[in-house]
Amino acid sequence: MSRLTAARGFKDISPQDIPTWRLIEDAARKMAGLHDFQEIRTPILERTSLFARGIGDATDIVEKEMYTFADKGGDSLTLRPEATAGIVRAVIERGMLESGGRPLKLFALGPMFRYERPQMGRQRQFHQLDAEVFQDPGPLVDAEVIGFLWAFLRELGLGGLTLSLNSLGCPQCRPRHREALVKYYQGEEKALCPDCQRRLSHNPLRLLDCKNSDCRALAGKAPVMKEFLCPECGAHIEGVSLALTDLGLAPVWDSTLVRGLDYYCRTAFEVLSGDLGAQNAVAGGGRYDGLVSALGGPDAPAVGFAVGLERLALLLKERAGLSAAGPDYYVAILDPAALGPAFRLTGALRARGFTVAADWEAGSLKSRLRRADKIAAKKVIMLGADEIASGQATVRDLLTKEQASAPFADPEAFA
Ligand SMILES: [Zn+2]
Ligand SMILES: [Zn+2]
Repeated sequence: MSRLTAARGFKDISPQDIPTWRLIEDAARKMAGLHDFQEIRTPILERTSLFARGIGDATDIVEKEMYTFADKGGDSLTLRPEATAGIVRAVIERGMLESGGRPLKLFALGPMFRYERPQMGRQRQFHQLDAEVFQDPGPLVDAEVIGFLWAFLRELGLGGLTLSLNSLGCPQCRPRHREALVKYYQGEEKALCPDCQRRLSHNPLRLLDCKNSDCRALAGKAPVMKEFLCPECGAHIEGVSLALTDLGLAPVWDSTLVRGLDYYCRTAFEVLSGDLGAQNAVAGGGRYDGLVSALGGPDAPAVGFAVGLERLALLLKERAGLSAAGPDYYVAILDPAALGPAFRLTGALRARGFTVAADWEAGSLKSRLRRADKIAAKKVIMLGADEIASGQATVRDLLTKEQASAPFADPEAFA
């Protein structure tokens, strides 16, 4: 029989790595709570049409990277490539967006999936923290969302953070920028990478954030959106910028920071960390006022971010050397006659809230102490023939090396 392995691009999170992931998830929940966000958990699987409508057929994600398959009933389903579309679907379906209601602030933690060639640090299943706020069109909530993201990254001790900010304008002012871009790139098609040549006609904004060096050189001199903003968009981004200053953040203007989808508008942001290599953003987000209505919901403005957790986990693991806390007690069974008493004592201690480990067979004192050491138990309860005869277990504190006796039939004696 051939050896069974995980599917290509899928990885286990081993028990050794769980403390790191818990730390990240705890920090996310703590900061979400402080910023008044509620958790939502949507299915990892949605109808393919949701992503085709919500992310856009012409994007790289939908064109190449979706994990899509037909189920036995013939329905086309997709493992979610990102969280926003599913959350928007959920809030519409559940009627969570009442007109005139108070802003709805949601966050989600969980796995996302992309069908792409696995490479170092990029798996087909990865994890994100995602935050979305609905029904608040103002600049302060944009700054609040960025404040949540920033607080989360700081809570994890991430250093060298930079906040990049841009405005993508709105359906009123963006077309003039788009026109200027198309005009600017006219005659330069041959200098562009094949992807950008293709994008030029339907999505010229995306040429600004292409990673190809020739494209970057051209993008550096391209017309910038800032100069085309209408007065409302100008006031909005100014308001965001001021509010960020109130939070102690110093955003850096980056006119090549874009989102390729039409429903993105006004605020776009990214956070970069020197700890993770300068060229890659840790997290990104922005305002997407047109998405809810594009997916059949009310005309509800929205803003949010997503942050990938794998690289954070890698960094924290390297840095902190986190390990799981050992049990309060390891019960060392040194004689077959001790099995019953040991089993009862273990149950009684667990019922009192202690973490207890044991191996259900008798072994030598040496092998049992080695085991207690390996799992970093705080104390060892030794139960051998002598202890059974006297009714007194030997308890050794592995930190202080102190040893004492306690009646093993009375769990209170171990508290
Ligand atoms: Zn505008
Ligand atoms: Zn390009």
